[in-house]
Amino acid sequence: MHRYDIVILGSGLGGLVCGAILGKEGYKVCIMEKNRQIGGNLQTFTRDKVIFDSGVHYIGGLAKGQNLYQIFRYLGIMDQLKLQRLDLDAFDVVLFNNDEREYKLAQGYERFIENLVRDFPEERDAIVRYCDTIREVCAKFPLYNLRSGSYFEKMEAVEIGAKSFIDSLTTNETLRQVMAGNNLLYAGVADKTPFYVHALVLNSYIESAWRCVDGGSQIARALARVIRQHGGEIRRHAKVNRICEAEDQVQYVELEGGERVYGERFISNIHPVKTLEMVDSPLIRPVYRNRLKSLENSISVFILNIVLKKDSYPYEKRNYYVYKNKDVWDGMDYDEQSWPKNYALFFSASSKSDEFAEGATLMAYMKYEEVAQWADTFNTDSQESDRGESYRAFKTRKAEQLLDLMEVKFPGFRQHIHAYYAATPLSFRDYIGTDDGSMYGIAKNFNEPWRTFLSPRTKIGNLFFTGQNLNLHGILGVTFSALVTCAELLGWEKVVEEIKRG
Ligand SMILES: Cc1cc2nc3c(=O)[nH]c(=O)nc-3n(C[C@H](O)[C@H](O)[C@H](O)COP(=O)(O)OP(=O)(O)OC[C@H]3O[C@@H](n4cnc5c(N)ncnc54)[C@H](O)[C@@H]3O)c2cc1C
Repeated sequence: MHRYDIVILGSGLGGLVCGAILGKEGYKVCIMEKNRQIGGNLQTFTRDKVIFDSGVHYIGGLAKGQNLYQIFRYLGIMDQLKLQRLDLDAFDVVLFNNDEREYKLAQGYERFIENLVRDFPEERDAIVRYCDTIREVCAKFPLYNLRSGSYFEKMEAVEIGAKSFIDSLTTNETLRQVMAGNNLLYAGVADKTPFYVHALVLNSYIESAWRCVDGGSQIARALARVIRQHGGEIRRHAKVNRICEAEDQVQYVELEGGERVYGERFISNIHPVKTLEMVDSPLIRPVYRNRLKSLENSISVFILNIVLKKDSYPYEKRNYYVYKNKDVWDGMDYDEQSWPKNYALFFSASSKSDEFAEGATLMAYMKYEEVAQWADTFNTDSQESDRGESYRAFKTRKAEQLLDLMEVKFPGFRQHIHAYYAATPLSFRDYIGTDDGSMYGIAKNFNEPWRTFLSPRTKIGNLFFTGQNLNLHGILGVTFSALVTCAELLGWEKVVEEIKRG
């Protein structure tokens, strides 16, 4: 009977980073992925010859010497990535329908401050304090700064609310909204989202903001190469159905079809609640299951991937966050009439043209309840099935509503569209394997911060968690989550030292 050192369940970024690190450290790794394509939210797909990202649209911290750069260099993938830096003057632009101005968020703190001061000349002190606090909060997270440190350093920082802190800086209502203007990046909720989430995410983009040329799946492919170079295996179409424990240890996982895969240690990149549903063991007590089940997931999204007519719409190296009203925190509080209240617009970076955009993506919040009537359908590229005419009509209706809102700030955009393709919470549910298509997994809450920080350890000694549900979502956040998981096996000092050594 073959037995791997490490069996990883799911090939999302977290699973792949764990596989690469542990493979490099000499462990024999095997990753089980249910889909045809590896990468989870890093998956890309092509429509009318245009490449679209399913999840990731831009990444921070990748300039030489910055945190993600150092980790990717250590992993051996940095020089394999085709990246494009976004506009230094504006990686993100915040727009409000009832305001003519464009509020630009720039890369580099100096430029970031000067841009905002130009828009709000009376508010320099508030803007500087905002930036100083972002940096102070980031400094309290040791791993984020690639150093070892105490868990307790971040204690004060985790209890600050994003909205309340930002609001406390100034009475200027527009500036408050602009400072929180890209909160779709972390699905910000006014009375729950901690300021540290805002700070860790925004700081990485202020440091440097990048798009993946021809899609983010290149990160997954590069990590897969590292894993294979170190003797690891990645199995696709390998859905884990059961995690089988005996004598206080997971012995094997059982795949759809009945095959058993044995290992010494198991790391689950699958949502923790879904992971535990597969475990039948007295070690997982109801109270632990219920605690995890009671944690709220972040909302899901409706995505419109737009193929643009050839050489028709100029390519822009910036993203837009657009709001119907001047309230960036109320996007999730919608009904049939008021949806969508806001959206993000991203352009696809293509190696074919820098002048004209080939594709654009619109992203707006959507609650799972909206698609619950089609809950008993399932559709992915490895298991295709038609969700029916009513679902198609729903998608078209929503797509047109979203384009109507877009036309307010981008008049005439429709005439550049060749075709569009929509994804709903059901698409995310089916591809990622969650119950509700949540974008970023378990949502953080400053009112009960420690409840929403999950440990990579489970109640079974050789079963660990990794991925966006632990510390933080996003490419940077998940990479750190994977380091936290690997540190359980290798020790903190070793992980940090190896990364610094490069
Ligand atoms: C719409 C959207 C936009 C985003 N934009 C950005 C962005 O611009 N920048 C950024 O940094 N981040 C972005 N993110 C967040 C980022 O993509 C995620 O946080 C990150 O990719 C999650 O990685 P993960 O390791 O948690 O795994 P996931 O991506 O959640 O993958 C989990 C994997 O497990 C597999 N799996 C599930 N169940 C099973 C099973 N039973 N057996 C085998 N395999 C299984 C799934 O198929 C999947 O491959 C975005 C996310 C979304 C949804």
